[in-house]
Amino acid sequence: MAEARIHCCVGSCPRSIGVRAALKRFGRVPSEYICQHHWRRLSRDERRVWARHQRRRRRFGCDVAPGASARIWKRLKHRCAA
Ligand SMILES: [Zn+2]
Repeated sequence: MAEARIHCCVGSCPRSIGVRAALKRFGRVPSEYICQHHWRRLSRDERRVWARHQRRRRRFGCDVAPGASARIWKRLKHRCAA
């Protein structure tokens, strides 16, 4: 059986990432994924905010502000699809 893949969250995007590759890259299996192509569309600041939150989440084991990651992710998804 083929390995499960996570598709880019931009609907029309054909890119996806394998679960194993995602685990290696992100240290966890995300439920949603933004491919390199769409990730590049985000501004440097947006990517920086996300990176900072993920760093904190790794350190503390959860969001410092509850729901922060989900909120930021939602915004990134919206922005990268625009
Ligand atoms: Zn994409």
